[in-house]
Amino acid sequence: MPTDKYIKNYIDGTLVPPGSGKYLDNYNPSTGKVYSYIPDSAADDVQKAYEAAERAFPEWSKSGLRKRFRILQRLADIIEQNLEEFARAESIDSGKPISMSRSVDIPRSHQNFRFFATAILHFSSESHHMEGRAINFTLRQPIGVVGCISPWNLPLYLFSWKIAPALATGNCVVAKPSEMTPMTAHLLAKACIEAGLPPGVLNIVHGLGPKAGQAIIDHPKIKAISFTGGTSTGKQIAQKAAPMFKKLSLELGGKNPNIIFADCDFDQMMVGTLRSSFSNNGQICLCGSRIYVERPIYEKFKEELVKRTQFLKVGDPFSSVTDLGALVSKSHMEKVMSYLALAEVEGGSILCGGEPVPMKGEFEEGYFLRPAVVEGLAYDCRTNQEEIFGPVVTIAPFDTEEEVLKYANSVQYGLSATVWTQDISKANRVAEKLEAGVVWINCWLLRDLRTPFGGMKSSGVGREGGLEALRFFTEPKNVCIKY
Ligand code: NAD
Repeated sequence: MPTDKYIKNYIDGTLVPPGSGKYLDNYNPSTGKVYSYIPDSAADDVQKAYEAAERAFPEWSKSGLRKRFRILQRLADIIEQNLEEFARAESIDSGKPISMSRSVDIPRSHQNFRFFATAILHFSSESHHMEGRAINFTLRQPIGVVGCISPWNLPLYLFSWKIAPALATGNCVVAKPSEMTPMTAHLLAKACIEAGLPPGVLNIVHGLGPKAGQAIIDHPKIKAISFTGGTSTGKQIAQKAAPMFKKLSLELGGKNPNIIFADCDFDQMMVGTLRSSFSNNGQICLCGSRIYVERPIYEKFKEELVKRTQFLKVGDPFSSVTDLGALVSKSHMEKVMSYLALAEVEGGSILCGGEPVPMKGEFEEGYFLRPAVVEGLAYDCRTNQEEIFGPVVTIAPFDTEEEVLKYANSVQYGLSATVWTQDISKANRVAEKLEAGVVWINCWLLRDLRTPFGGMKSSGVGREGGLEALRFFTEPKNVCIKY
């Protein structure tokens, strides 16, 4: 499966160019150069994808659990067998270190297909007995044709996280990956053909959000939308989809607190905090970008964090010593740097990082930024309230639980939070009061695929993951039988 210069849409089981014949530039963020081309798809491509999905639905939805299990397993096998090729494609497209694509992105992608292939075999629904009169049972049926739209930060990881449960439950899918990172979705299309996925069951339409993505949202017969991306995009989608009564799952932005108590295991906490601050260049919705440290250990923490951050190696994603690769795009790097300028205007001091990394040779035009640590900011300033989504963390001391909870919950977001303490009572007390869909205690990004995943407040609506995803992609119907 060599990577192609011209990416194709995957419609009705075949790779096809966009109807308009127009393509968009696809950049390699490490070199700043265009290296391939993405279909600039429009509503007519989405319509063809929908029609193919509609044709495939009657057979796929009745194909039986074991057939769907076998095909999805085969797809997982193909991704696993071609891990290196998928990982290379992901790193070229997104700028992330190959070590991360090999150990996180691509393994999770095949695990998603495996998890939902097997989960569907064990999925069951409820029955409610009305003593002496009747029995109700909940019939869970696939919805029909559903839309899945994903972002650029964990490209195949999040694309497969949506597609796998949608297909396992018997739906047919029209999906769109991010236009910034389309390559592994293109490889997935080829893997689907190799796995023998029937034509039309999954259709992948590439292109811009406001054009191809919007056409999926606007389509009157695409009945459910699973979307992961920014909060403002989520808001636009909800405004359009809600009056059409589409089922919606929105996984949106975050501005997550990392709360460090003085009684934590300091070494473990430092390792975890460096990861939660700068993994994938801070471009993970779950990164802990606001770090609150109990005052007795604040100075020690600050010194250690700055030292370790300065030690991180930024550069060639394909080098084995690289910790941070390139940011995903020029405009994203400019956005991150504009927040660093804002932090200074708001009275913050940049303790380290924040400047572009001078690179030589092929990487001269790449989007490399040194990770930054900022202190001295009020909890309610813009830098501490808005999602930056880059290698930038702010640090601040606190004195009481009450105070840190006020800081932590002050943002419009409520995606995740991390707490470091050896006091189990305190950990539970704080977890109960945090406004976040996911709380990690003494760890970060430890994910069990069976658990519910999603955000509160402006971080989203609904939950994905495990049985929640299977429930989302099915329509529950109560059948009441009188006897
Ligand atoms: P984005 O909202 O710009 O784009 C996400 C996807 O939506 C892309 O495929 C894009 O093409 C498409 N899109 C854009 N406008 C659209 C429209 N009007 N109609 C339909 N589709 C449209 O987000 P992004 O910049 O790709 O990703 C970064 C954001 O995603 C961050 O805010 C991050 O926190 C969030 N994110 C959230 C989670 C989560 O699980 N909550 C996970 C990863 C990323």
